[in-house]
Formats: sequence, structure tokens, C-alpha cells
Amino acid sequence: MDPRIDILGLSFADLEGKVATLLPGGRGLAGKVYARAFEYGRLDLEGLGLSERNRRSWEEHFRVGLLGAGRRESEEGDFGPTEKAVLILEDGAEIECVLIPMPVRQKSGSSRRAEGRPRSTLCVSSQAGCSMGCAFCETGRGGLRRNLRAAEIVSQLITTRTLFGWDPANIVYMGMGEPLDNIEGLLGSLAVLTDARGSAFSWERLTVCTCGKAEGLAALREAAGTRLNLSLSLNAGDDATRNRIMPINRSTDLGCLTAALRDWPRRRNFVLALNWCLLPGINDRPEDAREAAAFARSVGRTVFNLIPYNPGRKPIAPAPTEEEIDRFEALLVGEGCLVKRRARKGGRIMAACGQLGGPGAAGVASGTAMAEGETARVAGAANETAVAAGAASGAAGATDAAGPLTGTEIGNL
Ligand code: SF4
Repeated sequence: MDPRIDILGLSFADLEGKVATLLPGGRGLAGKVYARAFEYGRLDLEGLGLSERNRRSWEEHFRVGLLGAGRRESEEGDFGPTEKAVLILEDGAEIECVLIPMPVRQKSGSSRRAEGRPRSTLCVSSQAGCSMGCAFCETGRGGLRRNLRAAEIVSQLITTRTLFGWDPANIVYMGMGEPLDNIEGLLGSLAVLTDARGSAFSWERLTVCTCGKAEGLAALREAAGTRLNLSLSLNAGDDATRNRIMPINRSTDLGCLTAALRDWPRRRNFVLALNWCLLPGINDRPEDAREAAAFARSVGRTVFNLIPYNPGRKPIAPAPTEEEIDRFEALLVGEGCLVKRRARKGGRIMAACGQLGGPGAAGVASGTAMAEGETARVAGAANETAVAAGAASGAAGATDAAGPLTGTEIGNL
């Protein structure tokens, strides 16, 4: 392992502190070195007027840790290609991240492929593998290898930008692993990504997706304040079904989750995203929609991300048909829920929700990805459809807790 300090794991204040200790003469350059590390993905000391000795000192203590590039796959879709990159960590472990294209919203409310470079969301991994064991997920099948360090999470952005030219507008922690099971890496990476001297993402452009670790939620609540977006993989509105498909529910049941989420600090336009992977025969009955809606009501303003199941190597259900998706969407809407239906993208390259860590393009049949580009409907506004072209996981842009969403607000989601 390279013993040098990886700048991608440091906030600017942290770098300044390290430089003050290790390179007292280099403090004046810390800002430039930091900005260049994030812009160019390397320790760029050119043109800084450094003597050979001082340059060697920087290089002796610091580095910019790009990840190794493994397989890269792409699947064309309505809003541009969904791309998946397999990246290789220093110890040889492989992780995956996905660039998901998003539609561009037009004044008319319709969507089209972006001219030039489309807006996109980068889905990053927080762990190599995962210990949560969700029944519908390829990543969980392989178990946990290890947590990613903050620098390794941030480096997914910098590596893919440097090597492939990816330039996402949003980042969602929804790749391999449970981010709240790696709270140190998660909080460290959030601090770096939002540092104005470096990659300067606004908190509203970041979304953490969790299967529901209550203690992790408490830590995140303390650190992130009100601007971060949050999304919960719900998938069942009753404990018996959720216990079956998401083992985390046996220790943190729906009652615990309700209590944890009720306390979640809310900005005025906060909307909690509830992900529902539609598993025919498991969570698509009218009572499932009823219970899902009851949970949603118990935690404040929410939006359902309805994600058709992507059967992997060991399917627990068939992929839902369009009719089955229509029917469950209508059930949720009938219960008064706001629903965003997710487009089928990335399934052929195993880049869709629940497929990371799988066998790659050679793997499995068609599926879906967590991509923007779907209609949103809400009860009481049945004729009102709008393009879901908002921030990462769709949790940004609505209004505060009371009252129905207006058409404009729906359009902003
Ligand atoms: S869905 Fe998320 S939390 Fe569950 S096993 Fe997969 S990666 Fe882990």
C-alpha cells in the first residue's frame, strides 16, 4: 500500500493541517495543489515555482489516488448511454460505479435527450461488497469484503472524470454497499465532495440511499444537516415481508425506521425518497400498496421510486411486466402517494439497481436502472404528469410538509 497521504480523502482544512506539520514552507501552495488535484486528478506541481527539493517533499508526503480502470460497459437509452465502470482498488478489490443519464426538462414539461452533453448522475459504491444480504441484490450475494476509505469513494468521481470524461451533475450513494454501514467513509467523502476549494458539490446534489440502519441515520443526521438528500430502500410495508427480503429489518424494523425518519432534519422542500423494487408475487398486492402508503404517511413528505425488479443470477421473482408495473403504480397513486416510475436502463450491462457486483454484460436479461426520465403522478392530480428531472435520487425540489404538491412542484422533483 502506498503510505503517502491521498489528497482525495482530505478536506482543504485537513490538507492545510497536514501541510503545516509536514511541509511548513508549502502552506501558501496548499490551495492551488488542492484545486488541481480535484481538477486534473493528479498532483500537479508544474508552474508553482517549486525548487526540486520542495517538489520532492510534496511528492514524498502526498499523492492523488486514482483507481485502476477495469471493465467499462455502456448501454444506449432514450436519454443517452448508461455507463458502468469496474474500478480496481489498491488491494485488488473491484468496485463498480455507474453514470446514469438524465433527461433535460423543457418549459413545456416534456423531456428530450440533451443537446451536447446530457446531465447525469454518478452512482458510487461505499463498500467493496455488502453484508446486508438483501434478497433481490447481486452485491449482497457476495458478502462484504471491506469498507471503502473516503478517498476511494471520492476517487470514483475523479477517476471516471479524468479517465473517461464523466461529468455528473449529481452523486448518489447507491452503488455497491450500504453507506451507513461505513459511516466514516461516508461522512469523510461527503465533507470532501462538498468542499468549495475542491469538487464543490452542493449538498442538494448529493443523495445517500440506505436500507435503513437506524444508528447510521443518527450519525448522518448529526453530520449532514438539512441539505443532504436521503432515500430509503423500503420494498415492503410490513415487517414479515421486509424481514424476508431485507434482513436488516430483523434488527431495525419499520417502527424503528419511522421513529428515526420522523426526527430527520428537514429543509423546507425536503422529500424523502422511498425506493420500491417491484417483485411480482412478493410486494405487488393491493395490501402492499396500502401498507407502503401508511408507512409513507408516518414519515412525512415522500416520493416513491418504483423500480422494476432486475432478475440476476438467482432470481427471487420474475421481472415485472409493464402491466404489472402500471397496476402497482396505480395502487400507490390510489393510496395518495406520489410515484416516480423508473425507466428500464442498464439491465443488459448489469448496471441497474441491485445488479452491481454481478457478472457483467454477459450476464442477465433485461432490467432497469435508477435513472431519471419518468413520469410522476400524485393522487388528486391524475391528469397532471410531469418529467422527473430533478436532483440525484429525486428527493429534491418539492415543498414543505403540509399540503398537496402543486403541478410545478411535481415537475421540480
Ligand atoms: S440493496 Fe444495498 S444494502 Fe441491500 S445488499 Fe444490495 S448493496 Fe447491500
